[in-house]
Amino acid sequence: MIHEILPVGLLACNCSIIGDEASREAIVIDPGDDISEIVAILKRHGLTVKTIVITHAHIDHIGGAARLRALTGAPVYMHEDDTVLAENLAMQAGWLGVPTPENPGIDKAAKEGDLLRAGAIEAQVLHTPGHTPGSLSLFIPAEKKLIAGDTLFRGSVGRTDLPGGDSRAITASIQGKLYRLPEDTVVTPGHGEETTIGREKKTNAFVRG
Ligand SMILES: [Zn+2]
Ligand SMILES: [Zn+2]
Repeated sequence: MIHEILPVGLLACNCSIIGDEASREAIVIDPGDDISEIVAILKRHGLTVKTIVITHAHIDHIGGAARLRALTGAPVYMHEDDTVLAENLAMQAGWLGVPTPENPGIDKAAKEGDLLRAGAIEAQVLHTPGHTPGSLSLFIPAEKKLIAGDTLFRGSVGRTDLPGGDSRAITASIQGKLYRLPEDTVVTPGHGEETTIGREKKTNAFVRG
């Protein structure tokens, strides 16, 4: 499996490009910005985007989705519980002092237990609310990889003091769903370095397993 991680935009959101080597089908997760760099990576690997996944509707994760859809024709996949946040992109842009990007809307609504496919790759969708109501994580069992959005970080968890945040919900999502994954699962968080489920269960300062 091809897995490229590109930190995009002002807040260095980790955009993941996941590609199937045989079919050259791909899933792009969190194209927050720097769409021309994302497109260059897709071209370099000869990949066709099947789905654009938004882990949650913060501007650093969703900001480039409408542009990437216009360039690739791929549908935008997101949880409906983040619709209100997506409609407030102007306010979010104001916090950062950047121009307001287009709200892509939702082409396919995400649900707990959905399976997203790109060639032979299967990614399971976990609804992990707390950082935002519609936050989701993607687990790829065959590769033991988790794309965690801003729910779980190396040594930390997503902030819950922004609109829609809920500290009890994020703890329940992490302990009830993410910490039940195999300990050797490699976690790609929405920002910063990779970690593993086992490492976070033992050492995370905010949520222990
Ligand atoms: Zn966020
Ligand atoms: Zn973020």
